[in-house]
Amino acid sequence: MRRDVQKQYNLPTEIRFCKLCTVSNQRPRITFDEEGVCSACNYAKFKRNGIDWDQRERELLELCDKHRKTNGEYDVIVPCSGGKDGSFVAHQLKYKYGMNPLAVTWAPLNATAIGRQNLDAFIASGFNHILGTPNPIVTRKLTSLAFKHLGDPFQPFIYGQTNYPLHMAVKHNVQLIMYGENGEVEYGGDMKNAFKPNREIADHDKHYFSGLPPEFWAEHGVSLAELYPFMAPKFEDTVRNGTDIHFFGYYKFWDPQENYYYCLEHTGFTPNNERSEGTYSKYASLDDKIDGFHYYLAYIKFGIGRTTSDTAHEIRDNRITREEGVALVQRYDGEFPKKHYQEFLDYCDIAEDDFHAVIDSWRADHIWEQDGNDWRLRKPVWQS
Ligand SMILES: [Zn+2]
Repeated sequence: MRRDVQKQYNLPTEIRFCKLCTVSNQRPRITFDEEGVCSACNYAKFKRNGIDWDQRERELLELCDKHRKTNGEYDVIVPCSGGKDGSFVAHQLKYKYGMNPLAVTWAPLNATAIGRQNLDAFIASGFNHILGTPNPIVTRKLTSLAFKHLGDPFQPFIYGQTNYPLHMAVKHNVQLIMYGENGEVEYGGDMKNAFKPNREIADHDKHYFSGLPPEFWAEHGVSLAELYPFMAPKFEDTVRNGTDIHFFGYYKFWDPQENYYYCLEHTGFTPNNERSEGTYSKYASLDDKIDGFHYYLAYIKFGIGRTTSDTAHEIRDNRITREEGVALVQRYDGEFPKKHYQEFLDYCDIAEDDFHAVIDSWRADHIWEQDGNDWRLRKPVWQS
């Protein structure tokens, strides 16, 4: 079966690359200006030159003061995983801004040892922490279904990662939830929140769930009782609680590499001893053995793999040049995640042929051409 990927994600037929970074116009919701510069690069320029960061920090202090509690209750929820970004945010809020955070982690689908080690080290650096762990049998079932039907095995994790902090906010009477960066803004996407510190709860479905909330899977034989841990709290409960979602990246200059250095020093963070498959970095997104397949599917659907995303951000942060970025993309982007491949097949209970049939069903004609048994990008960044 082939799918109409282009229509589903509203992808332009003519592939164009940003003049400044490595990302193309195939990233869903990204926009390009008349000079051929992507919205994320324009935002990065604005971030460096157009924002008064002292003023933003004053806004952060005001926000903290507004939510700060004196009765011992938690005053902010920080969604985290033990990775560099959430740990940085939680540590700053607690030790620099004097807040009383509750760190909340939604369990990885299939945890790695290094991810668990970093989570433990983070907690040990002085945090109250809650781990949400759904029934692993249901998680497996959902991962397999999401891989087959959505082309993204990561979707069940995204449900919990998004919804569990909302539950904990209601349960613990906490109004403020502080995320790290606004991915839509930092990586290219819907810019409507670029100049706002917070996010509409109502946007959750659209940006994170591809329009398919957890309840959708009832159609595929998953019971509502099984789906319950993945669902959002009742919308009216979230509204009644006054839940307000903010991004730390609005208040403080967001630089993933600086976060990494910060966590090395303060939260016991350890990078991996080898680079992650599909990219050249050793310190981002280490928690889940399913990760590699999430990034690989993005490469299949959009021609945008993990190295494209990583280099684009590093070019915008002036860490590498565009030329270096393009060379890294040519070398690593779309590398098959072979390390956990057999485990992935077992985990999803899927045969190898079926796995490749699913992968190939997500290849759009305007992105891929077939050459014998091989698939080739029609327009890679190094030939553009
Ligand atoms: Zn760009």
